[in-house]
Amino acid sequence: MTTLQGLYRPKTVAEATALLAQDPEAKPLAGGATLVAMLNARVLEPAALVSLADIDEIKGISTLPDGRVRIGAFTRHRDTAACTLPLGSCAVVPHAASQIANATVRNMGTIGGSISFADPGLDYPPALVAAKAEIEIASTEGRRTLPASEFFVDWYLTALEPGEMVTAVYLPANDGGVGTYVKHARVAGDYATASVAACLHGDASLSVAVGACGPTPLSDPEADAILSSDRSDAGITRAAQILVEHADPLDDVRGSADYRRQLIPRLLLRAVRTVEAAHRSAA
Ligand SMILES: Cc1cc2nc3c(=O)[nH]c(=O)nc-3n(C[C@H](O)[C@H](O)[C@H](O)COP(=O)(O)OP(=O)(O)OC[C@H]3O[C@@H](n4cnc5c(N)ncnc54)[C@H](O)[C@@H]3O)c2cc1C
Repeated sequence: MTTLQGLYRPKTVAEATALLAQDPEAKPLAGGATLVAMLNARVLEPAALVSLADIDEIKGISTLPDGRVRIGAFTRHRDTAACTLPLGSCAVVPHAASQIANATVRNMGTIGGSISFADPGLDYPPALVAAKAEIEIASTEGRRTLPASEFFVDWYLTALEPGEMVTAVYLPANDGGVGTYVKHARVAGDYATASVAACLHGDASLSVAVGACGPTPLSDPEADAILSSDRSDAGITRAAQILVEHADPLDDVRGSADYRRQLIPRLLLRAVRTVEAAHRSAA
């Protein structure tokens, strides 16, 4: 193992992962929105940065022959938010991107940088879990793909191993459904105090995930089963109770744990009624 120093600008994923394998202390640099702030504050002082900005393979959004949609890790939030591909229930992902911070941050930040940092208040993680997205990870050993629900492991911790990087996010093929992301923040442009991502699939089943109410996005098969069969106010209340029981929120500057628990039923009701209305108007 060698110690790298300075800024490296690989042109391919193979070159980038070779650098990260040489020195697992080297940090990938994507949009820099978070990493540069951490460098300025000296929270992190890596000797080497591996810029991902020149790797074309991890930029942009495309539809694959099997209908899935690939979002390259270096795709900026503004481009994901502006995606016009027909995504069905996975439209929850661009909807979440459109609510990240403000235009300046959306112009800088990338989906790979966001999910690798794994702040529990981020907007993508619940959207990706509700959408049943997959995350592609590369290293010198090759590539592996994980469901988003397994990628987020704990507070600020992902399934990324030393020497690995995120290369893409895969969204399931258009299911003819609709998706929405409902975010509650103290002020416009802030991280979520709590959020709910909801996907009403083409077969009328519903999957949801709650953000900012625990170390990782909160989803529960029992809550999804209830919401798939009973979307009366009582059904939504029962599903919300299950989610509240499994929530593990913190008290922090964005709200108390108790306040966050109280937000879950309200945001869930709004999200479910929003996807139902969108589905009716699309029919
Ligand atoms: C003022 C401000 C407000 C914000 N508000 C919100 C908000 O409301 N909602 C929200 O969701 N986000 C918010 N963010 C976060 C922002 O959206 C970015 O997602 C985030 O800053 C990281 O993306 P980036 O591309 O800039 O990554 P960077 O800052 O470059 O990197 C972040 C971390 O990820 C690692 N990394 C980067 N790319 C990869 C990769 N491909 N593989 C493996 N590791 C990688 C880096 O080494 C670093 O540790 C905010 C950020 C700021 C500065």
